[in-house]
Amino acid sequence: MVFHIITLFPGVFDSYINESILKRAQKNKKLKFKFYNPRDYVKVVGAQKGKEKPYLRVDNKPYGGGPGMVMQALPVIKAIEAAIKHSNKKRKIIFLSPNGKQFNTSYAKTVVKKYSDIIIICGHYEGVDARVKKIFKAEEVSIGPYTLTGGELPAMIMIDSMARQIEGVLGNFDSLEESRAASSDTYTRPAVLKYKGKNYKVPKVLLSGNHRDIEEWRRKK
Ligand code: SAM
Repeated sequence: MVFHIITLFPGVFDSYINESILKRAQKNKKLKFKFYNPRDYVKVVGAQKGKEKPYLRVDNKPYGGGPGMVMQALPVIKAIEAAIKHSNKKRKIIFLSPNGKQFNTSYAKTVVKKYSDIIIICGHYEGVDARVKKIFKAEEVSIGPYTLTGGELPAMIMIDSMARQIEGVLGNFDSLEESRAASSDTYTRPAVLKYKGKNYKVPKVLLSGNHRDIEEWRRKK
C-alpha cells in the first residue's frame, strides 16, 4: 500500500511514521509514504519586501469574504497530478474535511481491500479551494465532529487505522485485538497490583486458562 500525502507540512509526519509498527511496515515493504508539497508547484511571484526569499504564495483570500485564507486550487492540483503519476490505477483520492463522511474501521477495511494507492489531501488555514475535490472526484472524509488546524493529524490517524488492516503489518503480538472480542480492557503482569495500600486484581476468568469463558467475558465487556 502506498500513501501519497499532499501537504504543506510533510515534516509533521516524520516522527510518527518512522517509529514502531509503521517503521517496521515500511522496512518490510508493506507500506510506503510519498509526499507532495503544493508549495513546490507554485509560481514565484517576486521577492517580498524586506525578505530575501521569493514569495511562494499557496493561499489567498476567500471569495465572499470571511476570516482566514484558503489554499489555492492550482498548486494542490499539480501536487495531486504528481501523486497520480506515481501511483497505480487502483487509487483512491481522499479530501480531508471536518464536514466529510465519518471515518471508521469499516471504511478503513474497505479502502485497504479495494485500493493499492491512497492519495490524501491535507488542507490548512480555512481549507482547500472546493473545486479541487470536484475535479478529482475526491471523497470528503472527516475523522470526527471537530475542527483541527490542518489535515496532517487526521491523515496520520487514518493511515494508522488503515495500516492495521494490511496483512502482515501487525505481528501476532500486536494483533491481539483482532482475535479478541470488542473489549478494550486488557491486563498484564502482575496479577495483583499493589498501589497506595490497595490491591488491584486481574479478573479471575483471565487467569483461568478457559478460552471459552475468556471469550464470553470479553464479549460481555
Ligand atoms: N472551515 C473549514 C471547513 O469547514 O472545512 C475548516 C478548515 S480546517 C481549519 C483546515 C483543514 O484541516 C481542513 O481543510 C482539513 O483538511 C483539516 N481538518 C480539520 N478538521 C478535520 C476533521 N475533523 N477531519 C478531517 N480533516 C480535518
